[in-house]
Amino acid sequence: MKANMDILILSERIAQIFQLLSSPARIAILLTIGRGEACVCHLEAVLGWRQAYLSQHLMTLRKAGLLQDRREGRYVYYRLRDEAVLALVGQAAELNGITPQNVDALTNPNPHTRCECPHCAPQFTALLQP
Ligand SMILES: [Zn+2]
Repeated sequence: MKANMDILILSERIAQIFQLLSSPARIAILLTIGRGEACVCHLEAVLGWRQAYLSQHLMTLRKAGLLQDRREGRYVYYRLRDEAVLALVGQAAELNGITPQNVDALTNPNPHTRCECPHCAPQFTALLQP
């Protein structure tokens, strides 16, 4: 019997995405960035994880093409390369009985009181400018 190589190759490529999303930490990062952008200090404040741990996951997601980054002054901001990944995460949530409202409520980087980035604390950042 001859294997259908096309479906095997296709399945391998699809599985790569699920492998990336098999990490709760990476899903949490993607949801926190949501439809906006977030710097590492913002992710630290929201998720309570050390920068080294976050950077490792951010690098994996960026290398895989799910994230892109942009530098502005001393901050590096991350955003989703394609927001379709949020729909995929949302569908996985629904399969596990989580409502889209519950997912939406935790998606997007709203200003955070413990983050000092220009998005969260514009006045504080202005004071630091030379
Ligand atoms: Zn912030």
